[in-house]
Amino acid sequence: MATKHYLGGCQCGAVSFEANADLDQTVTCNCSRCRRLGSVLTFIARDEFTLKSGEDNLSEYLFNSKKVHHTFCKTCGIQSFSYGEKPDGSAMVAINVNCLEGVNPRELTSYAHDGAAA
Ligand SMILES: [Zn+2]
Repeated sequence: MATKHYLGGCQCGAVSFEANADLDQTVTCNCSRCRRLGSVLTFIARDEFTLKSGEDNLSEYLFNSKKVHHTFCKTCGIQSFSYGEKPDGSAMVAINVNCLEGVNPRELTSYAHDGAAA
């Protein structure tokens, strides 16, 4: 697989986005949040992400280091992406692969990040 163009969004449709991502590079995580959400994540540069709708319908949650802005739809509660920074300080978006159209995250081989301390 290689970098492809995807459409994604929340459950109710208020939040929608386009993203270019390589789904050979996905991550699951056992931190206190991802464990509950069942998140399958892929991390992309901010300029590979376009929020098409729902800017005004997003709320956000911060925890632990408070560096990642976990955005979620105010209407349906689904966290389809979050904003953060890469280790080099550049703007990053963590896409919730569960929220991409035409993708079955359970068919992907994801790296299991041990984030349980968070
Ligand atoms: Zn929604």
